Amino acid sequence: MHGIVMKFGGSSIANAACMRQVAALVRAAAQRPPLVVLSAMGKSTNGLFAAAQAAESGNLEAAIESMQAVQATHLKAAMELFSGSLPESLEAGLTARFSELELILRGVALLRELSPRSMDAIASFGERLSTLLFSAFIDAPLVDARKIMRTDDTFGEGQPRFALLPELAAQHFAHLLIPGQPVVTQGYIGATEDGLTTTLGRGGSDYSAALFGAALGVEEVQIWTDVQGVLTCDPRVVPEAQSIDQLTFAEAAELAAFGAKVLHPATIQPAVEAGIPVTVRDTQHPSGRFTTISPNTRSGRAVTALASRGPVTVLTVNSSRMLNHSGFLAKLFDVFRRHGVSVDLIATAEVSVSLTVEADAPLAALMADLTAFATAVAVEDRAIIAVVGERIKQTPGIAGRVFTALGDINIELISMGANEINLSLVVPQAAAVEALRRLHRVLIEEAVCA
Ligand code: ADP
Ligand code: ASP
Ligand code: MG
Repeated sequence: MHGIVMKFGGSSIANAACMRQVAALVRAAAQRPPLVVLSAMGKSTNGLFAAAQAAESGNLEAAIESMQAVQATHLKAAMELFSGSLPESLEAGLTARFSELELILRGVALLRELSPRSMDAIASFGERLSTLLFSAFIDAPLVDARKIMRTDDTFGEGQPRFALLPELAAQHFAHLLIPGQPVVTQGYIGATEDGLTTTLGRGGSDYSAALFGAALGVEEVQIWTDVQGVLTCDPRVVPEAQSIDQLTFAEAAELAAFGAKVLHPATIQPAVEAGIPVTVRDTQHPSGRFTTISPNTRSGRAVTALASRGPVTVLTVNSSRMLNHSGFLAKLFDVFRRHGVSVDLIATAEVSVSLTVEADAPLAALMADLTAFATAVAVEDRAIIAVVGERIKQTPGIAGRVFTALGDINIELISMGANEINLSLVVPQAAAVEALRRLHRVLIEEAVCA
């Protein structure tokens, strides 16, 4: 089908003025027509997590206070958008949702129990509220994403049932999407077959946008955010970061997986499979620079961008018997499988293997199992730095420049990704910012000037 998906992140709809700006962008695109996928307003999701956690610890007062802050954000924006007099249905809708939320929080506080399932129910209010308000403001149909985004019951990280999405999207979205008429829906949230609310994990609205776009077969998925596209590094860390016009799918996926928060790590996959271009644009500067990630793009660059993720823990496993012992790696990885821990980077030497795991991995349990057949050392508070570029492997001297740039910052592990476009290093977490700045200067700023 024709049409586009326009996804707006939290900062793009943080208040009434932002919502007006978004409304103007949506109206301007109305003929295409857009499926508008919204996140929660501003930092509402954080507020909902805070409320849930306060309730779990039995502090109902703090929970209600957090909820009221979220409520105030919505009411203030609503009053401004509707010049002080809300349409009855909107007022009733907002009141009903906040009563429901309060009831759930009271239940959590009473039981002092917050299951992932209850957490998802609570977290879903952010997107349910933002879309309620925005659809009323632009007077467009609102479709509850939970009718389409069918997931399994992994609460907190629902896995979409891909095969069902095209049919559900056709059934609930397609007939409403006619030229001139945008349709509004929620990112981030979904539901199990039994109708229980799930979420796709933090930052999941980008993923929703790509999945809906792929299910509908749209022309373009637009991710509208607060930066001019994907930049050469997180601008909060490296203010000199520059906007990248064209990114390959592989580069974008790698950057997202290694911490570039601008895209949820799973976003690219559905778009790749459907061959749909994804653009990343700045809501406040719609005619400024933006990034296109498309199937046919070849960046041809040695180094495109840097990303980092941390803290992580590095585990080094030694076994003098490892050499010529074909079952060793199988045994090693079985430990991680048993504990449901995924491994990020791996570097092997003759008698040792170093690998990284998330900081919240069950370290004591892993160490107990590993030391049953090898010696193992864990080093915490490390960060992974990823240097990503399509021609990184074919360009001589990159590793040398990386080592020179880092100077006195100790590199504790180095790994060239199997896909050949990612050179990853592990450094102490405390040195990550400085490492990114130095690498950016040498690999990107000076490379551009050269
Ligand atoms: P949204 O609420 O729109 O989803 P996010 O906060 O999730 O926005 O993502 C946008 C932020 O991602 C930016 O403000 C920026 O600080 C951060 N970011 C990290 N790495 C990059 C990068 N390589 N390019 C652009 N932004 C990045
Ligand atoms: N509102 C959710 C979050 O803050 C999802 C998103 O913004 O993408 O994580
Ligand atoms: Mg995001």
